[in-house]
Amino acid sequence: MKTSSKPSVAVIKFASCDGCQLQFLNAEDELLALAQLVDLAYFPEARSREVRGPYDVTFVEGSVSTPDDARRIVGVRAATRWLVSIGACATSGGIQALRNWANIEDYKRIVYPSPEFISTLSTSTPIAEHVRVDFELWGCPIDKDQLLTVVRSLISGAAPVLPGHALCLECKRRGLTCVSVAAAQPCLGPITRTGCGAVCPSVGRGCYGCFGPVDDPNMNAFAELLERQGLSRDECVRRLRLMNGYLRPMRDTSDAIENRPVTKH
Ligand code: SF4
Ligand code: SF4
Ligand code: SF4
Repeated sequence: MKTSSKPSVAVIKFASCDGCQLQFLNAEDELLALAQLVDLAYFPEARSREVRGPYDVTFVEGSVSTPDDARRIVGVRAATRWLVSIGACATSGGIQALRNWANIEDYKRIVYPSPEFISTLSTSTPIAEHVRVDFELWGCPIDKDQLLTVVRSLISGAAPVLPGHALCLECKRRGLTCVSVAAAQPCLGPITRTGCGAVCPSVGRGCYGCFGPVDDPNMNAFAELLERQGLSRDECVRRLRLMNGYLRPMRDTSDAIENRPVTKH
């Protein structure tokens, strides 16, 4: 129930590591100003007070991985005006979606001494596959500044807008040496959306795609580039599936590479 005239905000967790929620707490310099603008009504990671919904804005971290998750997300949607999914887990199913290509019973048997007590779904899926999502915030973890932009937009009644272009543009802006061109390192930058400030290329490492695909990725050309750089079929598949592999562009391309007939020379 609402107890303040300020917009109420909830932060809710599904299957995840909590890293995206921690970005709220990492916004130390802005947190007090934010607290003046919104009522943090439900955020168990940060405070013990729990005001019941409905809320104005609900941030959802994590993927839907259990039958209970699948039921709970319907209630979360019904109890909020805006629902924002945050992070790779919530927007794509996350790293745990690697199990979508495997047999969940094998995992249960290998990992747990008493697998009969484990209640889980055979897939890990994004929030948008279950309920309507108003906005998706990408990254593993999400970027603090993008998070604050979204909060400010929503509480002022504006639709949030974040860039959907490729990370390569950020590299160019920062004057970074391209690790793909200069060192023939596989880098997912050409198909990954900007938002992190090109963290990995700035330390001489290829991007592994944690911010998800750009709006219109050229997957075929990118897959050819990976193969030209000497990656085997299995390595290409692993690169494309690692962080956001269950999303359509990554999924379709990695499946196509995996299922392609082997050419004998
Ligand atoms: S997206 Fe990454 S940082 Fe965020 S909850 Fe999932 S694993 Fe953690
Ligand atoms: S390092 Fe990666 S992200 Fe940067 S320009 Fe090269 S390919 Fe693009
Ligand atoms: S460079 Fe790529 S992998 Fe590294 S933080 Fe940015 S989006 Fe994530």
